[in-house]
Amino acid sequence: MHIVHLTSELSPIAKVGGLGDVIHGLARQQTEKGHHVEVILPRYDIIDFEALSNLKMNMRDLWSYENSEQIHNSVWSARIDGVSLYLIEPHHTEYYFNRGKIYGEPDDIARFLYFCKTALEFLLKSRKQPDVIHIHDWPTAIVAPLLKETYHKLGLVPGGVVLTIHNLEHQGKCLARDLSRIGLRGGDFLTAGSMQDPLDPTLINLLKGGIEFSDAVTTVSPRYAEEIKTPLGGAGLHHTIIRNDRKIHGILNGIETELWNPAKDHYLIRNYNPEPSHIRNVLKNKKTNKELLLKKLHLEPTKGPLVTCITRLVHQKCPDLIKEAILYTIEKKGQFILLGSTHDKEIEKEFLKLKNNPRLQESGFIQLTFDDIFAHQLYAAADAIIIPSLYEPCGLTQMIGMRYGTVPIVRRTGGLADTVFDIDLSDKPFNMRTGFAFDFPDPTGIHWVMDRVFDCYHNDQKKWQTIMQNGFNVDFSWARSENDYEKVYKSFLNR
Ligand code: ADP
Repeated sequence: MHIVHLTSELSPIAKVGGLGDVIHGLARQQTEKGHHVEVILPRYDIIDFEALSNLKMNMRDLWSYENSEQIHNSVWSARIDGVSLYLIEPHHTEYYFNRGKIYGEPDDIARFLYFCKTALEFLLKSRKQPDVIHIHDWPTAIVAPLLKETYHKLGLVPGGVVLTIHNLEHQGKCLARDLSRIGLRGGDFLTAGSMQDPLDPTLINLLKGGIEFSDAVTTVSPRYAEEIKTPLGGAGLHHTIIRNDRKIHGILNGIETELWNPAKDHYLIRNYNPEPSHIRNVLKNKKTNKELLLKKLHLEPTKGPLVTCITRLVHQKCPDLIKEAILYTIEKKGQFILLGSTHDKEIEKEFLKLKNNPRLQESGFIQLTFDDIFAHQLYAAADAIIIPSLYEPCGLTQMIGMRYGTVPIVRRTGGLADTVFDIDLSDKPFNMRTGFAFDFPDPTGIHWVMDRVFDCYHNDQKKWQTIMQNGFNVDFSWARSENDYEKVYKSFLNR
């Protein structure tokens, strides 16, 4: 199958969160399976070009359009970890992808509409006819309507389009006239069955357009596919999701088990084999990693567990509950290390204040950056990882935690509920129970779950080790998820 992913993120060269990891993992698995896979990404200035091989000019002169004006672009080709990649470089007066970041610019809508239009121009002019065009979240959602409205007539007719919803919260809302930037008559799409935003009928909703016009829609976990059909989880789009129910599929993300492998991870001081039968060695080496990390950070070792949280600090991830978990862990004589990235000044201020709280001095550490190497070391050193999200489409950190023998503590929502089964309360067989879970997103919920975590850690090490071993036994590889995506592709290709 010829599969083209159009995306705004790709790990490790352009990553903000899980979306980048998913594209890298899925595209790599599909390539290894023998599919002809191509990923198309903007040529951001932040890309680390050292991570690419075979970087060369593929198309020096690609003309695209914005507001009927011709714009000059170049397209580069490269390979990354065996996957074929194209980078679109606009020679645009607005320097769309030279902003030192991926999102968060006032003209994000214009930037990604332009990218989508130009990527389709590239496919058309290079005469590619993919079986599947796979688009991801709002930044590339417009591709589905744009293909049907414009490019089919020009001769670019893929076998079908799949939209993956990695997060429904961000929908890309804009004015109807914004669509004229890419040659669409925005007014024509302001109808309930098309791209009209359900909450503000004067606006266009790009993600909704992706849902309505794609041949299949996937979410990144089965539970999330159900949650978004409710007013609480649907962020205004639940009626759209329900109306398109027949084409919605929940496919659990995988993680790259080679990249996230404590046996080979170059960033670790002590490597260990994530196998149930190697538990003694795992415990010994995790302990060394923990001791050395605490020493490096000038933290006093205590008898309690080292808990971590590795996250973007945004509303979805519940910063207030993360704060509560930090303070409660320290009160109970554990240690806490937070690695949190944020662009929100208020949230940043809150956590800087917490950082200077005298209660944290000896047992708490907060780093407010994105730091991949530190993340690897934390997964290996920590005893537990907490993810108290309000909602979570899939979540990767709980799965990575399990792979590193770091017991996940999660709020029972979305993909967290699909992957972490409570050691005491789950109805799953005992050997499938992989962590601790709680329901209520409030301080009481945190105290309730942390009391159980501390009790198990201090008083029942055998049970603790069983949780770690159960986690090692779970198959989170992309091979499983890749098969499910293939089935979805075939569902429309066979039609
Ligand atoms: P989301 O996509 O909502 O951010 P996920 O759990 O799906 O959350 O994916 C998060 C990914 O980003 C994981 O690979 C995690 O290790 C990584 N990550 C999150 N925050 C940071 C950070 N501050 N520094 C380094 N890596 C981070």
